[in-house]
Amino acid sequence: MKLLEYEGKDIFARYGIPLQKRSGIIRIGDSTDKLVLDGAGPWVVKAQVLAGGRGKAGGVKLGKTPSEVRELAGKMLGMKMVTHQTGGKALTVEEVLVDEACDIAREIYISVVLDRKGCCPAIIASAEGGMSIEELARSNPEKIIRLPVDVEAGLLDFQARQLAFDLAIPQKNFREFTAFARQLAQVFIKEDASLVEVNPLVLTGDGRLIALDSKIVTDDNALFRHKEQAAKPDHEASEIEREAKEIGINYIGLDGDIGCMVNGAGLAMATLDTVKMAGGDAANFLDVGGGANVEQITKAFQIILKDPKVKAILVNIFGGIMKCDNIARGVVEASGKVKINVPLVVRLEGTNVKEGRAILAKSGIKIEQAGSLWEAAQKAVKAAR
Ligand code: ADP
Ligand code: MG
Repeated sequence: MKLLEYEGKDIFARYGIPLQKRSGIIRIGDSTDKLVLDGAGPWVVKAQVLAGGRGKAGGVKLGKTPSEVRELAGKMLGMKMVTHQTGGKALTVEEVLVDEACDIAREIYISVVLDRKGCCPAIIASAEGGMSIEELARSNPEKIIRLPVDVEAGLLDFQARQLAFDLAIPQKNFREFTAFARQLAQVFIKEDASLVEVNPLVLTGDGRLIALDSKIVTDDNALFRHKEQAAKPDHEASEIEREAKEIGINYIGLDGDIGCMVNGAGLAMATLDTVKMAGGDAANFLDVGGGANVEQITKAFQIILKDPKVKAILVNIFGGIMKCDNIARGVVEASGKVKINVPLVVRLEGTNVKEGRAILAKSGIKIEQAGSLWEAAQKAVKAAR
């Protein structure tokens, strides 16, 4: 799950990571009068969208007076934002964060990522903050510092000190920085994150060290350990994805037009690949789970058909524990409950496959059957055209 900047900062606050004072958050539909701006200002008005690069896209604005801040916040809410990280898509700004502004003397990049090869978390840092780390990796890879983190011990003292030296942290902020770096690694480990990024970490004109931005991605598979987090909305999920989650179907919307219903995540991935190889594009990833019963199959059809892009449905189910004849009965019964108004291609394989195919053939429902995944994918692509 990707967290918004302010949600990440809420987590940072729990770990004692130094932050700039928050003035408030307003949501779309709220009156900007809700913003209580104490202090002397200036303030920074920040669009809360799940993408970096907001600064350059007009999503980070400085307001000198409370009235200016309210005006900026009002304009930002509802704005469509395209940044270099949104992949050409426009994100709607639904929430705006107002923090006190600070006087920046230096910007530093620091993050904790998962080093898959090293099988451990790793700190990535650079004294050149502010700019895109991807760009720096291309132009000046030698300026990027990498440090493995032991998941049990966390970032060790000597490592934190080494990092501070490498980043030329001033003497005055040295201890503050080493404590910060160790806490950042703890956020990654304890929160089951796959990414924790602070870009920029700043040294201010008045000698403070502050995490000015936050980006946290948590591992959905560990959500059961984080009840509070699990209860929060997944901002990245579409309406259909949220509904699917509620009824326990593993669904991810995609850009194509072939709706896919598969049992098992691995088979679902293979199905998407095969559709692609056959010249088509899947409209979704959908794993109905191990017990592909009538209820789940019905729900899955309903979810798939909520996407108006769907022009054909490809059902690819392997009868292992569930036998193919039961699955076929499930498909027949489900298609009686849901109005399937697009071509349906079904490929069954596994235990009792002959019986299963016979049930589908005799059902009178317009189903195109396929003997192999490749054949099924080709038929679905053709049907969608
Ligand atoms: P993004 O990464 O999406 O561009 P950031 O939060 O990193 O958004 O903000 C972009 C830039 O805006 C920062 O590099 C910093 O220069 C400036 N900025 C952000 N927050 C503040 C703040 N509280 N005070 C002063 N400048 C800020
Ligand atoms: Mg940033």
